[in-house]
Amino acid sequence: MTPTRRIPLDPLTDEVLQLAADALRAGELIAFPTETVYGLGANALDPAAVAKIFAAKGRPATNPLIVHVADESQVGQVVAAWPDEARKLAAEFWPGPLTVVVPKALNVPDAVTAGGLTVAVRCPALASARAIIAAAGVPVAAPSANRSGELSPTTADHVLKSLAGKVHLVFDGGPCAGGLESTVVALTSFQPRLLRPGPITVAQLEAVLGPIDATPPKLTADAPMPGPGMLPKHYAPRTPLECAESEPEWLFLIDLYETAGLKVGRARFDGDPARVMATLYAELHALDDAGHDRLIALLPPPTDETRAIRDRLARASLD
Ligand code: AMP
Ligand code: MG
Repeated sequence: MTPTRRIPLDPLTDEVLQLAADALRAGELIAFPTETVYGLGANALDPAAVAKIFAAKGRPATNPLIVHVADESQVGQVVAAWPDEARKLAAEFWPGPLTVVVPKALNVPDAVTAGGLTVAVRCPALASARAIIAAAGVPVAAPSANRSGELSPTTADHVLKSLAGKVHLVFDGGPCAGGLESTVVALTSFQPRLLRPGPITVAQLEAVLGPIDATPPKLTADAPMPGPGMLPKHYAPRTPLECAESEPEWLFLIDLYETAGLKVGRARFDGDPARVMATLYAELHALDDAGHDRLIALLPPPTDETRAIRDRLARASLD
């Protein structure tokens, strides 16, 4: 493969959009920023292009992809039904960090949905992401632009660190403002179900939908996958990470490992949740690159606002 080209998104010229659209329509992979993390995008309706995403990431075929649309009117290209609940969620949270799982249209390749009958769709808030999808004129399947299991990328440098040579073009829009993957909610059974916590909280979803099922699946490294794409160990740094529930426990662990002669990287994630989300991956990337033997993270107390932060740190710290 030819070396990866980095293309600045500022200014967002017609020429830049044309490059992205041509690549997507030619079945190539592009990395591009969204308000959550950088995505590794391919034409969602082209099975050969979608196969390249799985190959580049080393992603298990059982982990389905989120399809990104330029606006709500484009969901018709990928869904078999767009229930009232989906309409209400889109009206409230799109464009934005909310993914909705609904029955899939027949033309959606099996690879996108991991062979399942449902498809996950989202309309990203970042204007350049929507402009790229609109220019291509096709829905864009895009998981996070990193090798499977690694930390998600929130800068173009993070993408290149993980996928240089494996992606045709990397569009550089600077650091992602949101920093954490979208909330995923399934509308495929009687009660709406939270599949992945994210920036949109359960309280925000319930304000629109009424009660939802938010019971988290059990997180153990050797548990079978509870549903498509819900890999227990995920989003992890290479350096072993351990989480502490309180400041005394955090300080105790740091002291314990330092006394044993280890080089310990420390991070606290107990500040304002929106700010913590925005920098969580960038901080873990930096700590991971600093040559520590062990990372010790202070968790925020469990609340609806910190659910996604705790979820990602729990997955990152499984052995
Ligand atoms: P990623 O692209 O790495 O952010 O992962 C996308 C996530 O969306 C998956 O890991 C699943 O949790 C979820 N997802 C995507 N498609 C589906 C689907 N059809 N059914 C259930 N969950 C899905
Ligand atoms: Mg990912």
